[in-house]
Amino acid sequence: MEHIPPGNGNDKDADQALRKRRLGMSFITYLATFLIVLMFAYQGLLPLSIASHFLIFSVVVNGLIWMAIHRNLNLRLRDPSMTMLQITLSQWPALWLMFFLEAGQARAIFLLISVVPLLYGILALKVRDFIWVSLIFLAQYGVLLLALWLLRPQVLVASLELVQLFVFIMVLAEVALIGGFISSLRAKVRQRNHELKQAMERIQELVNIDELTGVFNRRRIVQALSDESNRCRRSPGPFSLGILDVDHFKEVNDTYGHQAGDEILRVLARAMMLDMRAIDSFGRYGGEEFLLVLPQTALDGARIKSERLCDTVRELRFNGLPEDFRITVSIGVAEAFPGEHTDATLDRADRALYTAKENGRNQVVCCTAIDPAQQAGPTAYED
Ligand code: GH3
Ligand code: MG
Ligand code: MG
Repeated sequence: MEHIPPGNGNDKDADQALRKRRLGMSFITYLATFLIVLMFAYQGLLPLSIASHFLIFSVVVNGLIWMAIHRNLNLRLRDPSMTMLQITLSQWPALWLMFFLEAGQARAIFLLISVVPLLYGILALKVRDFIWVSLIFLAQYGVLLLALWLLRPQVLVASLELVQLFVFIMVLAEVALIGGFISSLRAKVRQRNHELKQAMERIQELVNIDELTGVFNRRRIVQALSDESNRCRRSPGPFSLGILDVDHFKEVNDTYGHQAGDEILRVLARAMMLDMRAIDSFGRYGGEEFLLVLPQTALDGARIKSERLCDTVRELRFNGLPEDFRITVSIGVAEAFPGEHTDATLDRADRALYTAKENGRNQVVCCTAIDPAQQAGPTAYED
């Protein structure tokens, strides 16, 4: 009886599991209605054999729908949730019982019960669907009246039938109207949620991404560094970082203009990103300085990686700049000591960068100190 369409999730299996769960809820609703049917039988208003048909119908229909979902047959339908079908079918056992009811007045109760599944349509149907379902309900009830008129005219009371039919039409119209209104409100809420989600994603992007280069901004790359440091504290292993600085960038800006400088930073950042492993992080630390965080990488690996980046930068060409124009970078690298504060590792990498600049730029310098605690003099660097 009940059917709620699953959310917008793309996961087919999750959607199918959700449909099965909801079918289970629908079956429970059938069983609850069966209790009412049993009461009619107990009061002698309905033969018990006919009452049992309700239960058989519930088991067969819900069983068939369950099988269809289990075998993914429903996915071939326009509406894989089969909402209209389930609501339409739900009226059938009620109509069947109504045919056998001794007291015509009692039919009104079953008419009301048969409207209940329409309410579940609020979660899935549009106004147009509601109108269609209501018309199908009326047509199905019309078939029942015709059958009664032909086969059991003695239970029909013309005036009562007219009133019941009129009330049924009114109730269906009201349910369709209110249901359609609520479902259009739901559609609006869904749309707002979608917009809100997009806005949240955009805010996340603004918070984490550097607008000029599209890579992580300072806040996010420092966060990545701190995350990696915390991870190493839990499960020890090496990790290294590198500070990359564009050589003579001020001169480039002065010669070719700030716009050209911006373009260089963009191209450089994109090229570096293409060279990164999925677990590495790369972000703009400030100005023309970038930070590399290399998890599970000891100093030697970090040096090799950084040298490869230097080579990549040397090959870069830039739109709007002379064909033979090239830039170079200097990189200071340090491996984090176990338990070392990230500021201290950054400081060592920064000093290595300073040495690289001092040594003539366009090179990688690694901080090679084994352990600062054992170190008496200044940190040793190697080219
Ligand atoms: P060095 O080789 O010693 O690093 O020299 P440098 O000229 O690169 O170093 P310096 O720190 O003196 O200059 C950095 C320059 O980077 C200054 C500034 O004009 C430029 N810069 C910083 N951020 C941006 C930016 O977002 N866009 C552009 N176009 N230039 C920037
Ligand atoms: Mg520089
Ligand atoms: Mg600099």
